[in-house]
Amino acid sequence: MRVTPPTELDVLVVGAGFSGLYSLHRLRTLGRSVHLVEADDDLGGVWYRNRYPGARCDIESVDYCYSFDDSIVREWTWAERYPAQPEILRYINFVADRLDLRSGISFDTRVDAMHWDAEDSVWLVATDCGDRIRARHVIMASGQLSKPQFPDIEGIKDFSGELLHTGDWPRDGVELTGKRVGVIGTGSSGVQTIPQVAKQAAHTTVLQRTAHYAIPARNHDLDPAYVEDLKSRFQDYREIARHHPGGTHRRIGTESALDVDPGALEETFRGHWEKGGPDILAAYRDFRTDERAAEKAGDFVKERIREIVKDPETAEKLCPKGYPFGAKRLVLEIDYYTTFNRDNVSLVDVKADPIDRVDGSAVVLESGARHELDVLITATGFDALTGPLFAIDIVGVDGQRLPDAWKDGPRTFLGIGTHGFPNLYVVAGAGSPSVLSNVLISIEQHVEWITDFIDHQFRTGIISAEVDEDAQDRWTQEVYDVAAPTLFMKGNSWYLGANVPGKPRVFSLYLGGVGHYRDICDKVAADDYAGFTLTRGEIKS
Ligand code: FAD
Ligand code: NAP
Repeated sequence: MRVTPPTELDVLVVGAGFSGLYSLHRLRTLGRSVHLVEADDDLGGVWYRNRYPGARCDIESVDYCYSFDDSIVREWTWAERYPAQPEILRYINFVADRLDLRSGISFDTRVDAMHWDAEDSVWLVATDCGDRIRARHVIMASGQLSKPQFPDIEGIKDFSGELLHTGDWPRDGVELTGKRVGVIGTGSSGVQTIPQVAKQAAHTTVLQRTAHYAIPARNHDLDPAYVEDLKSRFQDYREIARHHPGGTHRRIGTESALDVDPGALEETFRGHWEKGGPDILAAYRDFRTDERAAEKAGDFVKERIREIVKDPETAEKLCPKGYPFGAKRLVLEIDYYTTFNRDNVSLVDVKADPIDRVDGSAVVLESGARHELDVLITATGFDALTGPLFAIDIVGVDGQRLPDAWKDGPRTFLGIGTHGFPNLYVVAGAGSPSVLSNVLISIEQHVEWITDFIDHQFRTGIISAEVDEDAQDRWTQEVYDVAAPTLFMKGNSWYLGANVPGKPRVFSLYLGGVGHYRDICDKVAADDYAGFTLTRGEIKS
């Protein structure tokens, strides 16, 4: 049965993924009245919804987990190097049960609207269940990649077969055996699911617009002795990641790839290829900034594709073109390229011959070619970062709506707050390192900083905290300045909002490094939250 949310709260948390669950727990331990609302019927966020075959983490399990509770660290044992979706969802449930979090969550409850009441300094929150909640503070833990983006293809909604999105996969799974399956999208989700789909379906048609770079995951079971050893020194291990630019333990190269002789380059690349994982991205210092340097790794990957894929025409189609290595998210693959050697898989280049429409059971290309399908899987990504926020009618000071305030792209201070929207905090969203770091490190840092800030306000009689416009202008410029020289600006990716028609082309993630970002946030707190206007007052009941 649904837990009815209280009508008065110190803090409302929106979203029951990793961010929201930790926020709920931490505010409880700080003694605040707090409740969490979740649109879905269970917890887990990304890892509840992305149940497509092959869904898996691209950060190692021992890094992609919480560190705030030593007993949880001791009691949970990871099985795989890169955990699959079921293992991560089991972990999230383990944590939630261990900390008795469900009792503080209303499931099947979507926040529809949040209006700032300036007189009482509270948010008036409305849900789709008819709840009306007055909350002094609201933490948006509503996710970065929680709003699936469907492709704008004529007739797709009337597809006569089964239409699926990887980001909202049916809870009970899908029977693909013996079916003709089409997949649109070859980013991380597509690359993960295509090999698994091909193992079940009668025929799989991959409709590829842009080939992504993928390198082997080399996933394997973890050695129990290694896991136990890591547990015994986990906080020290984690402390290194907390101050690392990416929130990981990745070694960052100091040489330029342009200064290294071809033999040494090849040896380095082969080492990464054999080890698997994304560390190749940091092999040389200029991979993020110099196209000629990045191209060396790109050429190496293309050579491997040509080696693995037997049909030369298919191999050529799978070789990424038109953007530098690393400009889009590097995908970790398991059996992806070898899948194209199967007789029941065909690759269709929909950049050369674009999708025109869906007609009944067929995807029809501009040339008139028809691909008859029983199941159409869209692995077409998400309306990232701003999508989940803009889906809510958020109205701040003087009636300003968030989409209007951010019409040219997100404007934040530290990614945590935005001018005109007091007492509203976003976890791991735009303006912070977020998804370009090990997100679990970034989530813990954000949740701890935000909840400390809220607690400080209650303890010192502050009733509202609003980001100053000039602090926001400086931070927004800083985010832009750090990103501008990087190759991320050259990939037509969701990082830039390029995958959503009409979205402003703005790179809004902070690339200055997780450790450096942490120091900046800590300094803001030490300077009595400089950058926020803090208003003291009586709390009206
Ligand atoms: P989410 O897990 O997205 O949770 C947000 C929750 O908010 C959802 O449950 C949603 O239903 C709820 N919600 C949203 N709006 C409302 C509303 N209006 N009312 C009520 N509830 C609402 N990151 C990595 O670092 N490594 C990875 O390997 C990795 N893999 C990923 C794989 C996939 C398939 C995807 C989609 C993302 C991946 N990410 C990865 C990024 C991922 O977003 C984060 O790692 C992390 O899971 C985010 O947790 P979260 O709690 O912030 O958000
Ligand atoms: P994505 O990276 O945005 O990829 C979407 C794919 O769909 C692209 O190949 C895109 O082609 C294609 N596409 C979109 N609209 C299309 C259309 N109308 N016609 C043809 N093709 C179309 O989305 P994603 O793969 O879901 O990944 C999003 C992010 O989620 C990742 O970058 C990552 O951060 C996270 N994720 C991580 C993992 C993991 O490994 N742990 C797994 C899944 C997701 P274009 O490139 O041409 O636009």
